[in-house]
Amino acid sequence: MEIHRNKQLWFVTGSQHLYGQEALEKVAVNSKKIVSGLAEADQIPIDIIFKSVATTPEEINQVCLDANYSPECIGLITWMHTFSPAKMWIAGLSILNKPLAHLHTQFNRDIPWDSIDMDYMNLNQSAHGDREFGFIGARIGLPRKIIVGYWQEQRVLDELGNWSRAALAWDDSHHLKIARFGDNMREVAVTEGNKVSAQMTFGYAVNGYGLGDLTAYVNQATDSQVDQLINEYCDLYFVQKELQPGGSRSSDLREAAKIEIGLRAFLEEGDFKAFTTTFENLYGLAQLPGLSAQRLMADGYGFGAEGDWKTAALVRSMKVMAAGLEGGTSFMEDYTYHFEPGNQMVLGAHMLEVCASIADGKPSLEVHPLGIGGKDDPPRLVFNVQARPALNATIIDLGGRFRMLINEVDVVTPSEELPHLPVGRVIWKPLPDLPTAASTWILAGGAHHTCFSQAVHTSHLLDFAEMAGIEVMIIDKNTDMNTFKDHLRWNEMYYHLIA
Ligand code: MN
Repeated sequence: MEIHRNKQLWFVTGSQHLYGQEALEKVAVNSKKIVSGLAEADQIPIDIIFKSVATTPEEINQVCLDANYSPECIGLITWMHTFSPAKMWIAGLSILNKPLAHLHTQFNRDIPWDSIDMDYMNLNQSAHGDREFGFIGARIGLPRKIIVGYWQEQRVLDELGNWSRAALAWDDSHHLKIARFGDNMREVAVTEGNKVSAQMTFGYAVNGYGLGDLTAYVNQATDSQVDQLINEYCDLYFVQKELQPGGSRSSDLREAAKIEIGLRAFLEEGDFKAFTTTFENLYGLAQLPGLSAQRLMADGYGFGAEGDWKTAALVRSMKVMAAGLEGGTSFMEDYTYHFEPGNQMVLGAHMLEVCASIADGKPSLEVHPLGIGGKDDPPRLVFNVQARPALNATIIDLGGRFRMLINEVDVVTPSEELPHLPVGRVIWKPLPDLPTAASTWILAGGAHHTCFSQAVHTSHLLDFAEMAGIEVMIIDKNTDMNTFKDHLRWNEMYYHLIA
């Protein structure tokens, strides 16, 4: 999917008038050099604009006000080249409603041992100027990212790049509209939740539509539109012979194409970037929209099955974070275990709706019966996923607040063919091991639906969770059950106290 080209990060350097005009001019020149350096870094996918050297409370307040009101600005990067007395920042930072990254860097990498004098020290005092700035962030209780290191160092650029992707997703989440076709799968608990709380926390709006609203669009699909889409399928996938034009089951694929055309038109017209379906409510549709969900996700749409709007939103946000990165991102479900001693694994899949972006190679497009839903056999893309690291993430509604859970996993190549499992499927070994990963996940209430990604890393999600102010628990190679359980208990107390 396309990266948001019109979004910006604003770079603001803090200083004061104590040093004289000449020093402030140098500060501005050096800041601009840093901004050009950051702007050229491949890791940072959006524009960075140098805004100002802010030297008074009024200037600081104004730049924060401007950032709040700018639809292009998705976050502020601040840096104190010199000392910037931080009472000047109270008014501005108190009203700032965009994410903040505090870049604790220095214009020169090394100490110039032979020439260093007090003038040099006074101009290059980020080491303590940024501490003064840091204090006021802590004093206000401001959520922020702190990145430490030389501004040309790859690790620093990686951290800033990851944070900027989280900021993009955070901005996107505040414009996100989710269309929910039908309600929840009946009696399911974890896919429920408070949509008002979610909108207050993440910014996105979830609204329901009847299936008749969708079928009206599906029925408008023309023969030539369907022909064109079938051609696209034939270009992109290995299409089963029976499904090809003239084949004995070509009408099944034409029906799937009509559903995709209608769904796409509905989502585009309403400016929705995520949607949910439920197999219990497909009135007027001939098939469960499987292929269309697989393809719309590949184009950047969020999706959740069985009415799961929280996962649909998370899939969308992770798609935004992942834009342009190697590896795909998909709606996912922990489906079945392999409990072989010493080789324990999870098979992840869904009935149909696994995103084609995670496919290893060209998927195969096949039609098979579906035992659930009582509709016609749906065509679907069938594929495996490349063996490389990945993660699964979920957000659950605990009643008064939201919790994110992340489990880092290693995808493995299936050693068998799986000839009777015609879906997109992934085999992974969760970290640290399956018993610990599953028991901690279950203890924390993690959903059976997740967003799986080989592009998004834990650091992207941590930054996003920080922006949202939600709890996050990580299950990775260092996780052990007793410590995890203690953290859950402490968090319970912390979130109760700050509520
Ligand atoms: Mn499901």
